[in-house]
Amino acid sequence: MRAPDSLPVFDFRGRLARAAAALRTAGVDALVVSHLPNLRYLSGLEATAGTGLLTADGCLHLLVDPRYEAAASARVAEVGADVLAAVPTAEVSAPVRIARHATGEGARRLLLESRALSVHDARQLQRALIGAHWTGELLDDPLDLIEDLRRVKDAQELALLREGGTRLSAAARGILADGVARPGRTELEVAAEIDARVRAEGFSRAAFDTIVASGPRSAFPHARPTARRLEAGEVVVLDFGGVYGGYCVDLTRTVCLGHPSSEVDRQYHAVRAAQQAGCAAVRPGVLPTDVDRAARQVLEAAGLGEAFGHGTGHGLGLEVHEAPRLARPRPEDAAQPPLEAGVACTIEPGAYVTGRAGIRIEDDVVVTADGHERITDVPFGWPTAH
Ligand code: ZN
Ligand code: ZN
Repeated sequence: MRAPDSLPVFDFRGRLARAAAALRTAGVDALVVSHLPNLRYLSGLEATAGTGLLTADGCLHLLVDPRYEAAASARVAEVGADVLAAVPTAEVSAPVRIARHATGEGARRLLLESRALSVHDARQLQRALIGAHWTGELLDDPLDLIEDLRRVKDAQELALLREGGTRLSAAARGILADGVARPGRTELEVAAEIDARVRAEGFSRAAFDTIVASGPRSAFPHARPTARRLEAGEVVVLDFGGVYGGYCVDLTRTVCLGHPSSEVDRQYHAVRAAQQAGCAAVRPGVLPTDVDRAARQVLEAAGLGEAFGHGTGHGLGLEVHEAPRLARPRPEDAAQPPLEAGVACTIEPGAYVTGRAGIRIEDDVVVTADGHERITDVPFGWPTAH
């Protein structure tokens, strides 16, 4: 199977119009787009460097170095010169170009994507603005304005996520059925075969570094694969994902290379029940933190509340971790909006008992008008206890 040759034609003009409307609502003149996935979302430009200046009239200025000049010009030709402009920055640094551009556009209230901007770049920008005799106001974007637009997927994005879910599930079924994780292999060997199988399903790349965590290492939620050899009877967490048409899907299954002990079997079934409760809670109007609570309560009732240290899930899209955040509320975070149709996320509770085993089960779901749709479909692969 092959990946699509290019992204489908997304509604960039609609995205730019919605982003500009959000700027006007926030009462700012322009947004400095520093987070590259946001730049890609708004323009289709795939770059490893570059900045956007989105003005409240709905025009996105792509400030790129010579490596991306041709790509930026191609985006302008496709989307339209009235809403996109390519601005080469060869002769000066990006902050100086942003400063010149912002002052040239008459921006008085300038919003920064502070989470994506290094302190170094922010200071440089500030100095450049002072150098340009700018006397406006620099503001943080605590609402993550573009991330919030990205939260709800449109039909084309959902089609790519569904296709990704189908393909990742096919890879996972093969990985489980063929016993890719088997005694004698190292975690690194298992991870390499998983990655090859994910690519063979048409993914352009892995969505993140594949996790293969065996035996006692399964109790580390984000363990990197090592040269450790898998042994009969132990538990192995397999967590992998792929990027299809630019969109990320993510899946975890925990296998046992033999018969689990009754303790580990009980732990597994508690996680599975928590995952079912998490999925069942997903529907429009529910707060992401309440989905977390639904899964967490099951593990707490099983005496495994302390063993579940991470959140229940995360949004999926251009990034493998994006809004919403399905986790316990954090006092420092702005309140998240309730789930709505078109949100895509993972449901992945886990329980990690040091010295015994870690178990995690992860599937991907999309919020529908009246509930949710599971876009991954893989057997749970757990042996029956003896
Ligand atoms: Zn995962
Ligand atoms: Zn995940």
